[in-house]
Amino acid sequence: MMPPVKNCDVTECFYNQARKCHAGAINVGGSHPQCDTFTQSGTHASPSDRGSVGACKVSQCKFNHDLSCTAPGIDVSHHLAHADCITYEPR
Ligand code: SF4
Repeated sequence: MMPPVKNCDVTECFYNQARKCHAGAINVGGSHPQCDTFTQSGTHASPSDRGSVGACKVSQCKFNHDLSCTAPGIDVSHHLAHADCITYEPR
């Protein structure tokens, strides 16, 4: 099952409503645990009831297995001008 995005502080994202993510499934990562689905926008929409972690490329995180997230849920917050998964923990 895809882990839910429990809270997201990045209210300037298109998918954010009241600090909840409503993207169908987000992608995390690269060399850095950032939300690759973040889309800066003045307008907002809810294409799904709640956001989940579809895929995560941050293989160095202890929750990562086969480039998928196995955490019970994640939180997302600001890092500089983008959005980071703050549930990330190095192995
Ligand atoms: S988790 Fe990512 S896609 Fe979802 S609202 Fe936050 S920044 Fe946007």
